[in-house]
Amino acid sequence: MTLEGNSRLTNLMQDSLADKLSTVTITPGIEFDPDVSEILPKDGQENILITSALPYVNNVPHLGNIIGSVLSADVYSRYMKARGTNALFVCGTDEYGTATETKALEEGVSPKELCDKYHVLHKEVYDWFNIKFDKFGRTTTELQTEIAQEIFTDLFNNGYLEEQSMTQLFCEKHQGFLADRFVEGVCPRCGYEDARGDQCDVCGNLLNPFELINPRCKIDGSAPVPRDSNHIFLSLDKLQPELEAWISKASEEGHWSKNGKMITDSWVKEGLRPRCITRDLKWGTPVPLETYKDKVLYVWFDACIGYVSITANYTKNWRLWWNQPEKVKLYQFMGKDNVPFHTVVFPSSEIGTRKEWLKLHHISTTEYLQYEGGKFSKSRNVGVFGNNAKETGVPSDVFRYYLLMARPETADTVFSWRDFIFRNNSELLSNIGNFVNRIVKFVNVKYESTIPEFDPSAIENYESGFLADVNRILKNYNETLTNVHLRSGLEIALSLSARGNLFLQENGMNNTLLVENPARANAVVGVGLNLVYLLSSVLYPYLPTTAEGMVKQLNAPLRKIPDEFSLDLKAGHKIGKAAYLFSRIDPDKEEVWRKQFGGEQKVDEEAERKKAEKQRKKEEKKQKKAAERAAGKAAAEAAAASADAAGAEETKTT
Ligand SMILES: [Zn+2]
Ligand SMILES: [Zn+2]
Repeated sequence: MTLEGNSRLTNLMQDSLADKLSTVTITPGIEFDPDVSEILPKDGQENILITSALPYVNNVPHLGNIIGSVLSADVYSRYMKARGTNALFVCGTDEYGTATETKALEEGVSPKELCDKYHVLHKEVYDWFNIKFDKFGRTTTELQTEIAQEIFTDLFNNGYLEEQSMTQLFCEKHQGFLADRFVEGVCPRCGYEDARGDQCDVCGNLLNPFELINPRCKIDGSAPVPRDSNHIFLSLDKLQPELEAWISKASEEGHWSKNGKMITDSWVKEGLRPRCITRDLKWGTPVPLETYKDKVLYVWFDACIGYVSITANYTKNWRLWWNQPEKVKLYQFMGKDNVPFHTVVFPSSEIGTRKEWLKLHHISTTEYLQYEGGKFSKSRNVGVFGNNAKETGVPSDVFRYYLLMARPETADTVFSWRDFIFRNNSELLSNIGNFVNRIVKFVNVKYESTIPEFDPSAIENYESGFLADVNRILKNYNETLTNVHLRSGLEIALSLSARGNLFLQENGMNNTLLVENPARANAVVGVGLNLVYLLSSVLYPYLPTTAEGMVKQLNAPLRKIPDEFSLDLKAGHKIGKAAYLFSRIDPDKEEVWRKQFGGEQKVDEEAERKKAEKQRKKEEKKQKKAAERAAGKAAAEAAAASADAAGAEETKTT
């Protein structure tokens, strides 16, 4: 007999025991423990590995970043676990690369110290949003080096790596190659004096650093010179036929999101070319070739391998997750700018090793979340960033709710304070809050908090009406979430709560009913509280704190999400005290928050742009000064800070 069968038998025994003694008032075996220590794939079961895009360590994520990757992945992971599926959720900070090296120089610390500091900042933000990673790691570990070098070496031995020479700008003063955006000079198109090597902010033209007139190093202002350097390229062209075959199969089987598929197809259609995967930098995974001792792997070759090494830092049995592709399904969540690295570059690397690596099953991508009709901007102080969401005093569940309802699944969406307040007051408070509060309070007051003996058939049309509706909603919810349609899933969860409100209204739950038809009143109370219990489970992936508040009021443990509605809270069960799940937000807060977070959009775009430009220059001057100070403090660091030539790709990834 299987373990499951055993526990079913135990449940049956406990059930009959409960009938006799009336001590067991909750169906045993429905509870769900979200804290499992070492999660490993199991034979003969569905095993799911979930990742969210690794946030780059040196900036604080804004709400758009949060909904795009970690929050979406968190909902899916919580859902899968609450369904009883064996699922592991990993993420971590992406720490190598030019941007870190330069920022460290500016702050006068080592790259390692900078990463230590920002890794903690990221973790704090995600903790506040209740993102429940099984492992939140980082890419700067020994296992990252081991695994990335293993993949590199396999590709090398199989003939998928080639050497090419590249000409880049080199700064002789600080002895380093310069990434495109670390070269500044006069724009050849419009004459703007502070154009960057990748783009001119005034005329908007894309540039390459060799086009700039009077180019200078952004770090120390000296004139760079062209210099040749050898690099390793991944032969994507040779891998393209196999990659395409994999894409057409995997995108079908895994129901890739539309934008994920489209972006991938456009890359493949253009024809893949060899892609440079090494950089002239110190801060990275060393290239495992004798002649490349002074170079490192490019962060975008390295970053996806981060998922593997973070898993390896979670469990020494990580190969069970990553090297048994027939037993595990990989679900990856990200903003659309990250797509090509997950559907083209990383899978090609995996294929080229000629080893069994787990490849992407489902990709879930988002478009962009705008802030009050404009862009989030750290430098202009516009928008809500992860670390200041809590300054509003609004609980994180409300932010989760709003972001998931505004999830940019098929087109860009807009964060607006007015909408934020409206949804809190009308949807969370009036729909969910009222339903739960009304029934729990009624039972507190009229039933001394104890579920009475009840028979649901005392309710008119119970099976054909209420039960059929609830089961239809639940089935729809499970199908929708299984297919990773997160926004619709939340809408469906809300319709369950709306059905609850209707149920109380249909049956007129009040004093009169209690006096005139006590059998029916008892049934309404018994069924209604069980609906609250079911509602807590379907809300759990989205609003974990709210779900915990609900089960606390029911005096019951968190429960699994079932296939069908059942009466698991039984007669004699004593519930807890009613408490408010949500608070009303004063609509006047809209103006307050818009001022606080810079949401007032200028109609005059030209003035806005000029102001931003001025601000940017001021900031850069400040940064330059800081860099000079830093360079003075850490001359050794300065010498080490070379930059990668094509580093612009780190930001322009589509
Ligand atoms: Zn320089
Ligand atoms: Zn220009």
